[in-house]
Amino acid sequence: MKNTYPSYYKDFACIADKCPDTCCAGWQIVVDAESAAKYRCANGEIGDKLRKSMAVDDDGDTVFVSHNRRCPFLQNDNLCKIYIELGKEALCKTCTLFPRFVTDLGGRKETGLSLSCPEAARLHFANDMPLTFETVEEDSPVQPNSIDPTLYFTLLKAQKTAINILQNRKYPVNRRLIAFLRFCDEVQAKIRAKDLSEISAEEEYFLPVSASLSKAKRVLNRYADILKALEKLDADWNSELNEIKILSYKKAESFAAVLLQNEYEAEHLAVYFAFRYFMTTAFDKNLASKSRFTVFSVLICLILEASLPDFNTKSARIEAIRRYSKEIEHSAENMYTVFTAIKKSRFFGSDNLINILSCEYQPKEK
Ligand code: SF4
Repeated sequence: MKNTYPSYYKDFACIADKCPDTCCAGWQIVVDAESAAKYRCANGEIGDKLRKSMAVDDDGDTVFVSHNRRCPFLQNDNLCKIYIELGKEALCKTCTLFPRFVTDLGGRKETGLSLSCPEAARLHFANDMPLTFETVEEDSPVQPNSIDPTLYFTLLKAQKTAINILQNRKYPVNRRLIAFLRFCDEVQAKIRAKDLSEISAEEEYFLPVSASLSKAKRVLNRYADILKALEKLDADWNSELNEIKILSYKKAESFAAVLLQNEYEAEHLAVYFAFRYFMTTAFDKNLASKSRFTVFSVLICLILEASLPDFNTKSARIEAIRRYSKEIEHSAENMYTVFTAIKKSRFFGSDNLINILSCEYQPKEK
């Protein structure tokens, strides 16, 4: 089976007790059935603690019951008691996999690192060179699947073009995001029409529209309302969201400026979402929802950054992205809510996103 991953993927190593966050707090760890069975038979004091710490949640999943929002096996020094006492092999699938994600596409898989992990985010934004990907042949068997091969190969080519659009530095990043939306809409129309001939990105894809600031503000406020109604994994997230409505007003005038001041970060962020979700269209045929989620996520991360005390620094940018990824990407409930809104609400239409991206910055006279 082929495996495609970002070139920095192999450089990742968990920084454990040096991590400014920890993936063992703020959410419940779901324990897979095989690990739960092993834990039930474990000996000694750790065995007793493992048995006492597992429970079945409302969704029917076996989880470790957290204390003060921390995993019961997370020690005060932020090291894992299971890892220390029983070894790496004893970790459940959730803890072994995190922060890695895998999209299994049958003959090929896409593997990456979630930006909710600070070390993964540091690597992702480590330099301003365009992100690159590697594909290697691995010794694992091809998984049978029901993906339409014609659709798969069309999407594979389209994903390459979409990432090229996002990395086309001939244009400012806000225009690249506009072109990305238009290109994905074209591909979506072809998928619907069952016409899977190739599409290339035309120059006019990159042109902004004549923007309406008042419309941009209305739409951003709607986004803020949707985010505020989501399940909250982290208490800090709550206070940041309270700022969002005010910030979206302030920032609407200068979204292009914010994007342009953070060109490479906005580009890397968009490429992350395009890599992570684009090919999942092979399962649901809905590319437009993935491209809109990509652009929405870039915009919201920039707003969130502005709510942090050290905003306009690289650390604030990475922190905002990490919080967004943790709150949205790691909550099935939140992902469902956001994607439902994207599919059903006109506020998430490409025209509205393109309008926000087209609000060009007018520098104030000195
Ligand atoms: S968030 Fe990342 S660096 Fe931090 S403890 Fe988890 S895997 Fe390690």
